[in-house]
Amino acid sequence: MSKILIVEDEEAIADLEKDYLELSGFEVEIENRGDTGLDKALNEDYDLLILDLMLPEVDGFEICRQVREKKDMPIIMVSAKKDDIDKIRGLGLGADDYITKPFSPSEMVARVKAHLARYDRLIGSGQKVNDVIEIRGIKIDKTARRVWVNGEEKQFTTKEFDLLTFLAENPNHVFTKEELFREIWDMESIGDIATVTVHIKKIREKIEFNTAKPQYIETIWGVGYRFKA
Ligand code: CA
Repeated sequence: MSKILIVEDEEAIADLEKDYLELSGFEVEIENRGDTGLDKALNEDYDLLILDLMLPEVDGFEICRQVREKKDMPIIMVSAKKDDIDKIRGLGLGADDYITKPFSPSEMVARVKAHLARYDRLIGSGQKVNDVIEIRGIKIDKTARRVWVNGEEKQFTTKEFDLLTFLAENPNHVFTKEELFREIWDMESIGDIATVTVHIKKIREKIEFNTAKPQYIETIWGVGYRFKA
């Protein structure tokens, strides 16, 4: 039997979701606070998470982010505001689905079933889920070595891809050009830190809306670069 965790502070909604899911044969637990919900989602085994956005203590954004880093299960995010849904999509937190309140409970159950079936297919077929990084509209599939910017695929050379991925995997961390050169190019390779500058420029041309005002890879003057999360 699939086990589902609902993190929702409005008890009436949580109970309604639970009733419908139990009628469909699921085992369901409810947490009414963000902090306890996060703790349960990380430390116990569930097959799917239904996550409200606005929660006491820790919000749904943060829970989604942390669960995504450690757990491989479908996450359905629920919010009262359509605007919030657009915002969380834009953040690329990696939720599998989004539902706006009020919603029809039977539709929610249908979506839960669809996501569980999809995950079962991926696992049952022995197919590994690709290792994907998603940050604010940029999606990097490390397994397939492909990159999408706002849904549009962009082509990167090997070193550009490695550099972008390294920065995106270490968001908000400032690296010097020397560190990046050492990390991405062989220690022995001929070249210098100007190579890093050239590659950053090429990457920005592909991912930034305005390369004069980079929103992703920032220049920290006199130090180096960082990927802004
Ligand atoms: Ca709420």
